[in-house]
Amino acid sequence: MAEVPAEVNNIEETTQHHSPRERLKHGNAEASTNNTEMRPHYSKLDQHQDVETSDASEKLKRMEGAFRTILECVNEDPDREGLVRTPARAAKAMMFFTKGYEDTLASAVSNGVFHEEHNDMVIVKGINMFSLCEHHLVPFYGTVSVAYLPSNKVLGLSKLARIVEVFSRRLQLQERLTREIATGIMESIQPSGVAVVIEASHMCMVMRGVEKPGSKTVTSTMLGVFRDDPRTRHEFLHLITNSLSSGGGGM
Ligand SMILES: [Zn+2]
Repeated sequence: MAEVPAEVNNIEETTQHHSPRERLKHGNAEASTNNTEMRPHYSKLDQHQDVETSDASEKLKRMEGAFRTILECVNEDPDREGLVRTPARAAKAMMFFTKGYEDTLASAVSNGVFHEEHNDMVIVKGINMFSLCEHHLVPFYGTVSVAYLPSNKVLGLSKLARIVEVFSRRLQLQERLTREIATGIMESIQPSGVAVVIEASHMCMVMRGVEKPGSKTVTSTMLGVFRDDPRTRHEFLHLITNSLSSGGGGM
């Protein structure tokens, strides 16, 4: 990180934020327009960064306040030693768990689309996924299996995991997450078809006793040939279930 202009330091002191540097670079530009009155006089680039700085720190400060209120409401003492920094830590953690809002499909697949004659099914199984259920703000997590039938374009394999990341690091429903990953792949490389299957455990169900520990919710989205052609769909389902039950090697 380059030297911080003196003006930025002043603002940091007055707002007393503890935001990590890397968040500043990815600040939400849309929301930052409220802060125009705080801008001192310096170059446009510095101004932009400064507005993002104060915007991100303002959000963290408000979240810290909210987490402190939560601690009080569960009859905890937010000032006891173990909890003094908890609101700040929880705020930063929540920002991380929802960082997908600041990410885009385009940046996730940038430099990862290749023109290729390869038109056979591509499958990536077992992509780890961690998300937050939008009804309870409690984690659900599991694995994502993705397949597509290319149409002269392929995606770098790591990009599939990046697409999962963009959409899972938001408040989600498993059904919507499944669909967003599938349509994201469709948009990126226009394949003949896409299939996405997610197996996940929902802590909001497990911890409240609604669901047994170890049970999984399975959702799937089939687009293009995976929806229209039963043989393609069966081939995909066979390949992913075979390897799941036999502990791998099905491909
Ligand atoms: Zn829930």
